[in-house]
Formats: sequence, C-alpha cells, structure tokens
Amino acid sequence: MTKEQNTLPDLSNEEIHRYSRHLLIPDVGLEGQKKLKAASVLVVGTGGLGSPVLLYLAAAGVGRIGIVDYDTVDFTNLQRQVIHGESRLGDLKTDSARDRMLDINPEIQVDVYNDSLTSENAFEIAGPYDLIVDGTDNFPTRYLINDLSVLTGKPNVYGSIFRFDGQASVFNADGGPCYRCIFPEPPPPGLVPSCAEGGVLGVLPGTIGSIQATEALKLILGIGENLSGKLLLYDALDASFEFVNLEKNPDCKVCSDHPEVTELIDYEAFCGMPAHDHEEGTAGEKWDITASQLEEKLKNEEDIRLIDVREPHEQEISNIEGSELIPMGEVASRMSELDTADEIVLYCKSGTRSTRALEILASAGFRKVKNLKGGINAWARDVEEDMPIY
Ligand SMILES: [Zn+2]
Repeated sequence: MTKEQNTLPDLSNEEIHRYSRHLLIPDVGLEGQKKLKAASVLVVGTGGLGSPVLLYLAAAGVGRIGIVDYDTVDFTNLQRQVIHGESRLGDLKTDSARDRMLDINPEIQVDVYNDSLTSENAFEIAGPYDLIVDGTDNFPTRYLINDLSVLTGKPNVYGSIFRFDGQASVFNADGGPCYRCIFPEPPPPGLVPSCAEGGVLGVLPGTIGSIQATEALKLILGIGENLSGKLLLYDALDASFEFVNLEKNPDCKVCSDHPEVTELIDYEAFCGMPAHDHEEGTAGEKWDITASQLEEKLKNEEDIRLIDVREPHEQEISNIEGSELIPMGEVASRMSELDTADEIVLYCKSGTRSTRALEILASAGFRKVKNLKGGINAWARDVEEDMPIY
C-alpha cells in the first residue's frame, strides 16, 4: 500500500500548517502526511463506529474517503453517532457525514454511496480504495466485507460493539487471518441481539471506532504493529483490554489456497438474517406482489413457495394451485417449515392477514417474502376469472 515517495502528492503551505502536529512526529513527518493524502479508505456504515472513524480520518488528511450508508439520521442515533446532529434529523446519513467531514477538512475528497453494500455493487464501490473499514454491525454485511476484502486484496479494519463490550482487529493484512478464519460460520439467527435490540453504551463505539481509525492510519503509514493476527477485546466496565492471538485457518473457505468462496455470495441467505441493523417497515411496494406479477412468475415456473394463511374452510371456497396452508395463527410457530432462502408469497382473502404474517416473517429475518396484494380475491378478479370471490 505504501506509495513510492516520488509519486506522492505535494502539500500546500496551508496543508503543512493544518497538519503541523503530524509533521512534528518523526514516524509521520512530511512523507507520512503525503502518504495519508495519497491514500483512499472506504468506510462502510456511518453509525456509531463510522462516526469517529470518518471524523478522525477526515481530520488526519486521508485524501479520499468513501462512505456507504443507506439510512437517514434518526433521533435515537444521536446518543452515539456523533458525526450527525439534530439539525440533520431525517437527512441521509451519507450527506450529513460528508458535510461534517468537509467542514473539518475541505482539503479531502469525500465520495458518497447512498446505498446498502451488496454482493452486486461491492466490487464497483470498493474499486478505488486501498483499504476497507467495517463500521457496520450486522453479520451479513460483516461476511460480505470480509470476502470482498480477501477477493480484492484490501485489508479489512474490523470493529464490533455490544452494550459495554467491544472488539477490533485487522483482517486480511500482512498475510494474517481473515474474519472467516476465526468465525467460519455465522451465529444462528436470533441468537445474537443487535444494538437496536440489546443497547450499547454511547461512548463505546467512540473507543472502538477510534481504534479502527488508528489502525487504518498505521496501515497507510506503515508504522507500528497493527492488529493483524490479534483480536482486541475491550470491556468498558472493567476498563480492561485483552488480546487474543488469531491464527490463519489453512482450510478457510475464502482466504486459504483452496478456497470454496471465489465470488461474493448471498450473505443474507448465508446468515439467515437481514443485512440491516434496524427493521424496515413492511408496508409498500417492496413487499407487495400483484396477482398478474404472481401469475407471470408461476407461468415462468419460478421456484416460489405459495403460502395460504387463511383457515381450512376458506381454502375450500377458493385456492391457488400449488399453495400450502399455514393459517395465520400458526405462522409464528411453524416458521421453521420455511426457509429464508426461499422465495415466498403469502396470501389470504384480501391481503390483511397476509400483511400481518409478512411482518412476522420479516422481523424473523425473511427478506424474500412478498404479500399478494388484494389477496385471493384480487387473483380471482385479475387472473382466474372463474374463481369465486367471497
Ligand atoms: Zn480466512
């Protein structure tokens, strides 16, 4: 990652003034500051961890910083996501973060990706950057960032927080292990609560995010000993730091010399949970399918599990061929009969009960589930015209 000295950009007099306290450190100096100016870092997430990472990387003069987030600033974010302020409530987090960063340091370039990081867009987004900082807090995105980091050869600066406990490491750097070497499989869905469910001490991401920013700067500068091969565990209640040595797994599915994962996969299916830290509403088009859209899919013989959430006596009145009956009252207890990887379409008489069933499945991590808009009566009206409407 070290750029050759003769290709490093010059600093203006104003930049020399601005970074004076860096230039005074022998390990950084003029050359180090030029390396920072030439460097590019992608930060995924502008939440609790992303806030200090972005603030400090911007202030330190990292020349190009990319930020990825799909979310808007919410009132409950302000307790820890210190890059955002009350004046930006409801605004895109990427915009709020960029404006704050450029206010601190207008000398840098900030690129904004107002989107979720996905297997489809990850290579393109990460392309221009030297290293990736993981500021997210959900397993699908964590595995996605890890695999992206290995497949592109960019180090992954990792952090994770919960209540009073934090972790940090550097993966896929200096021949060290990757996240999958340590955690080959995600935890079972529902076992690990998110910060949205379990809470987090507001200052904790400040501590861990600052460590991530430090590691990123060290990697760029090529100084010190980074956290590659070590997992740092921080307990805020005990004020204790512990280190666990990490080994590269010779059979790692992504970073060994006989990898099984050679391209980005479906990480929500792999983890059996959604890639978003908070629940999206389940109203709206994203979750709806119309009768004619469903007809089209069935005609094309797409693999769909059609679930009728009505009662057995209603099924006798009308029924879409190939559907399975799971009455609304049994959806929660019979969820194990369904698979988050399946494409599921739910229907009832007019769409009300199936919307409720969809909420239950969506909150359990199902993302490939849709609600037949208008229920079987809409199907009878638009598709099977000889079917009774009741
Ligand atoms: Zn690995």
